[in-house]
Amino acid sequence: MRLKNSYFYTLKENAKDEDSVSSNLLVRAGYIKKSSAGVYMMLPLGWKVMKHIEEILREEMDRTDCQELLMPALIPEDIYVASGRRAGFGDSMFSLKDRKKQSYVLGPTHEELFAQAAKMKIKSYKDMPFSLYQLETKFRDEPRPRFGLIRTREFIMKDAYTFDVDEKSCDASYLKQYNAYKNIMERLHLNYRIVKADTGIMGGLLSEEFQAISPRGEDTIVLCSNNDLSSNIEVCPCVPEKPDHREEEKELTLVHTPNSGTIEEVTDFLHEPAKKFVKTLIYNIDGRPVAVMVRGDREVNETKLQKFYGAQSVELADAATVEEVTGAKVGFAGPIGIKCEVIADEEVLYMQNFVVGANKTDYHYQNVNLKDFKLDGHGDLRNIMEGDTCPKCGGKISFAHGIEVGNTFKLGTKYSKAMNLQYLDQNNQLQDVWMGSYGVGVARAMAAIVEQYNDENGIAWPADMAPYQAAIVLIAPKDETQSALAETMYQALQKNGIDTILDDRDARPGFKFKDMDLIGIPYRITVGKKAADDLVEFKVRGSDTSEDLTVEQAAAKVRELLDASIVHVDHQGEPHD
Ligand code: ATP
Ligand code: MG
Repeated sequence: MRLKNSYFYTLKENAKDEDSVSSNLLVRAGYIKKSSAGVYMMLPLGWKVMKHIEEILREEMDRTDCQELLMPALIPEDIYVASGRRAGFGDSMFSLKDRKKQSYVLGPTHEELFAQAAKMKIKSYKDMPFSLYQLETKFRDEPRPRFGLIRTREFIMKDAYTFDVDEKSCDASYLKQYNAYKNIMERLHLNYRIVKADTGIMGGLLSEEFQAISPRGEDTIVLCSNNDLSSNIEVCPCVPEKPDHREEEKELTLVHTPNSGTIEEVTDFLHEPAKKFVKTLIYNIDGRPVAVMVRGDREVNETKLQKFYGAQSVELADAATVEEVTGAKVGFAGPIGIKCEVIADEEVLYMQNFVVGANKTDYHYQNVNLKDFKLDGHGDLRNIMEGDTCPKCGGKISFAHGIEVGNTFKLGTKYSKAMNLQYLDQNNQLQDVWMGSYGVGVARAMAAIVEQYNDENGIAWPADMAPYQAAIVLIAPKDETQSALAETMYQALQKNGIDTILDDRDARPGFKFKDMDLIGIPYRITVGKKAADDLVEFKVRGSDTSEDLTVEQAAAKVRELLDASIVHVDHQGEPHD
């Protein structure tokens, strides 16, 4: 690409309305531009990287004998009602009516349509296994679109679906996809972890997330010092901390705690550690209030809470509801005398002489014990914390943060049951088809790479992921010797199969160097005064040194370095970790 007459721009200033490193860099470097909240234009540089990621995805899917197709994005709402998922998606589904007032949605994920398509082929056990995939735009009206391409409302997903006769065969198909996902993450140069996760609205028997490690990732990954655990915090079981000895139960006392509505305020006021308190949080669970108790220094895990009730929706209750069930201002809820169901994290069952809100503004109870209130249920309802005991081996828990780039689901027969996807077995009996589903967000993958590969000068792409591998910076475009050598260099690189930028703009050299660093071109070839001796200056992005080479040497060098940077992996056939 010759820059002079091409669509290319960079911005000097940080983007004001971007809240992540990757989105700021991608916007500044002219890869993307925000169109509306959570919706982006993919400009030529961005689209080039996207296409490369898509190529890797296609290659890996094709290696598993998965066949590509394309489903519509505009889907009759009925089929999500039939599968039982319409209500679960709620407002996160974009829905619309056509001129005949028929209801449609814009597809957020396509299990239902793929099950419909599979029905066309499946009659008997002989018709499986097979698998299908697509690269298509998904729509989700996310409540909080943020971090640029990481959480958008419109995004391209590579989604694949497998169809099998029974669990054993489904496991084999799952494993093929799982290994393909490992290949994908490695070919994208991502530092990643595979973690056990919630099956969420997808449902099914197993969910594993492919998380790109990033300090700013939205997901908390739970790891163990003995390396035998890798779980999303959403589903990681907790071991309750038990006291070393039983205390004598003291007498329940009401204490005046003026203006101490938060745990920090009340621990300060009563000079007791947070571990001596029990927080009571009022939740709205499918429209009804429930008080949830956890130790003062713990957090309620809403995924576990939702599972505990098998609920569609779980959210903190609004102030009016809290005031109604407690009869007090927000901040003084407790289990004694509250007007709603009360459940507790099981750790609370081991606590004695603790402090709770008194359901009376500015008051708490001290020396509370289990006999002082009615508990309607208990379970593992909290988030695990760093330093806690590993539920598997007793090791010590630590956290990492990740960006979920891919997710694999062993769905079982959930959708085939709902959508009547059945086959005749060897004994002529009708059986449900076993399904799996597998997704990668293409733009989110691009953002995750940028989050992991950047420096103070801009994006530092792994060489083969950059939109262009080499940039020729022509110092004096009006100098005939220089421009002729730059042209020869350009041809030589192209002949070697290297995607190249020829920066022939009339601008200062420093300005051009900065731009090439910002957009992240791995190899820079400067054509300046030494052109008179038929020499160019070769430099790797981020290196302090450069070398003078001939055109042929420079082209060969770029080819050699680029080849060395491409990851070759083949996890096919490996057992599940
Ligand atoms: P999250 O938990 O981050 O909301 P999800 O678990 O709902 O994502 P899946 O349904 O598993 O997402 O979708 C498969 C993949 O699609 C994800 O792993 C991710 O790469 C991508 N993806 C999902 N939601 C978004 C989004 N809002 N913006 C960009 N990519 C997304
Ligand atoms: Mg997911």
